[in-house]
Amino acid sequence: MPDKPTDSKLAAAIARDDAREAGGMHSDDRVTCWTHECWAEDCADDPMHTRPSARHRPRRA
Ligand SMILES: [Zn+2]
Repeated sequence: MPDKPTDSKLAAAIARDDAREAGGMHSDDRVTCWTHECWAEDCADDPMHTRPSARHRPRRA
């Protein structure tokens, strides 16, 4: 897997999703994945997300 430079557009989108989520948006409505630091659609097939209980942001224990 090539080492991609951080995409500033992605970084901005993650920051925007973080702010929206802090404002009450459901984590399932994120367009970015906080866990993988990528677009949500790019890691939708990750085993972490294919489990029904999985979220793009991990729950606190
Ligand atoms: Zn992910």
